Amino acid sequence: MKILQKGFNYSQDGPGNRLVYHLQGCNFRCKWCSNPESMFADEGGFREYSVMELFDEASRSKMMYFDGGGVTFTGGECTMQYIELLELLKLLKADGIHTAIETNGSSEHLIEIAEYVDYLIMDFKHFDCDTHKKWTGVGNETVKSNLEYFLNNGRQLHIRIPLIHGVNDNPDGFVDYFKDKDMKNAVLELLPYHEYGKDKWTRKYEITDGFVSEETIRLFEEKLSDIGITLVKT
Ligand code: SF4
Repeated sequence: MKILQKGFNYSQDGPGNRLVYHLQGCNFRCKWCSNPESMFADEGGFREYSVMELFDEASRSKMMYFDGGGVTFTGGECTMQYIELLELLKLLKADGIHTAIETNGSSEHLIEIAEYVDYLIMDFKHFDCDTHKKWTGVGNETVKSNLEYFLNNGRQLHIRIPLIHGVNDNPDGFVDYFKDKDMKNAVLELLPYHEYGKDKWTRKYEITDGFVSEETIRLFEEKLSDIGITLVKT
């Protein structure tokens, strides 16, 4: 598997202390991406490992998974390497290790992968397909069908919306989309725009005014809470 980075992290990548693997390659081209070095499958400073090498490492690290921790796969987009990811998730589950993934939600294999994932974190960047495509390079048809499958089946879901001025900073479309969904096992997190990754871009960085105001964040929180959505911060 192509791994860009790996290491322990607490709190932002699922519950407890977790061994986090950043997988190389993403099918989206989000203009605000804070990990642009992870986008292209054959660029960057990744290293290759076999599934068994990673499994051995994760299994040997069990003592470190305190507070309900475990192993998280993120990216890039971890589902791009889904054959190996699936194999590794199955091994980890069979070994009793808690698993999580962070995904852009676009994989046609996500429902199958999610069977072996204890804690699923999924982005929902925009409700409108054309706008989603404009800013990420890809439409949102599969993201929505995956999201709706998970919500309809009441599975645990941690949805993340990156809030970016001029891209998706009006809550009304999100409220319209979520208001008739069953959110009883879902939580939602707002991720206000930041520029931590801007200096890593070797291609043109096109977001010029992405910061959202405190007022916008409050408005999102109010309107989403009003339709019964549980908001979280990590
Ligand atoms: S989905 Fe994530 S990793 Fe992929 S381009 Fe967008 S922000 Fe970057």
